[in-house]
Amino acid sequence: MRKRIVAGNWKMNLTLAEGKNLVEAIVAQLPALTDTREVVIAPPFTHITQTAAQLEEYAHISVGAQNCSSEAGGAFTGEVSATMLQSAGVGSVILGHSERREYFNETSELLVKKIAQAFNQNLRVIFCCGEPLSVRDANEQNNFVGKQIEEALFHLSAEEMNQIVIAYEPIWAIGTGRTATSAQAQEMHAYIRSMLQNKYGNDIAQKTSILYGGSCNAQNAAELFSCADIDGGLIGGAALKSEAFLAIISAMMSA
Ligand code: PEP
Repeated sequence: MRKRIVAGNWKMNLTLAEGKNLVEAIVAQLPALTDTREVVIAPPFTHITQTAAQLEEYAHISVGAQNCSSEAGGAFTGEVSATMLQSAGVGSVILGHSERREYFNETSELLVKKIAQAFNQNLRVIFCCGEPLSVRDANEQNNFVGKQIEEALFHLSAEEMNQIVIAYEPIWAIGTGRTATSAQAQEMHAYIRSMLQNKYGNDIAQKTSILYGGSCNAQNAAELFSCADIDGGLIGGAALKSEAFLAIISAMMSA
């Protein structure tokens, strides 16, 4: 049975004190997670040690990072390496988020290097992909997302692919309040799984968790998570409020 995962991406939000309070409120009401029902919290780099310490005594909830350097270490001012993340207690790293692709010019070539750094430190990668509105309007979303996946992931071995979680995040749905319908999301997730099946075979295709991201919230999570190929969510705005995030976790628990 593949893992269902809810991952919260705090982006560049919350002070240390606000982050501490949010994690406290989440763990206070956390349901009993299991091997196949997992939660990840990805705060800014500055909050990682604090969050890791707060989560230490809880099982199946871990701290993630929102990015890592494509370099192993050295004179790269402002960068944070996968080694540093690993040493701070990070288990997963989000790579390829559309905001990083758009505002920081991250290309597939760069993502290949970042994924290699993450894997060198045994970090699981939450790989984001998704099309802009113009591509969706032209009904070219499968080709667009397919190319992102092929370029950044298809050089990986099957063993490495096992350490990848894919997050499908249509750009037009991120932070806009305009969620993909569950039918649109399911269709893309099934397409991504069929790509994995063709490249890596049924075992990897069935084991890979594919999360949906894009205005997922307490109201729509249950319907999205009930779809056959949607294995949870990557959550932005709704991860900043404990009640909303807990409701999304609860939707994952009963999916
Ligand atoms: C995200 O940025 O990964 C995201 C899904 O954001 P939101 O939930 O706010 O749309």
